[in-house]
Amino acid sequence: MFKDSVPKYWRLRDVVYRLKYIYCRDCGKSSFPPRSKCPYCGSSNIDHRYSKGNGVVEEYTVMYQSEARYQDYQPIVFGVIRLDEGFRIVAPIVDVDPNSVEEGMRVEATLRRVRVDGSTGLIQYGIKFRPSRR
Ligand SMILES: [Zn+2]
Repeated sequence: MFKDSVPKYWRLRDVVYRLKYIYCRDCGKSSFPPRSKCPYCGSSNIDHRYSKGNGVVEEYTVMYQSEARYQDYQPIVFGVIRLDEGFRIVAPIVDVDPNSVEEGMRVEATLRRVRVDGSTGLIQYGIKFRPSRR
């Protein structure tokens, strides 16, 4: 299973670590994750681009996990982040007091431990966000 996970990991590396997205030259919308056609207008006239990783919290929720394997992380704040390039991603927000997270808060992407599920090679959380330091 390790052999299967590694190629998948490398394929997803650009997407997860570098926030690769597509920009549609026809309708001007950005979307994530990248795909071969624009999900808004169906055009294949698209650019592959990389986000700078800066965005704003549009919505968030605080989850209190009770499972032992999540103990290190609790509570977990999940946010809907709108990147400056115009697309949204759901990701954990770290390095922050859950009580101080608010809508409209500026955040930046940060690389954290990637949890790879052994049986499927699924990367659960490749990218996280923290309060912007700029
Ligand atoms: Zn489009």
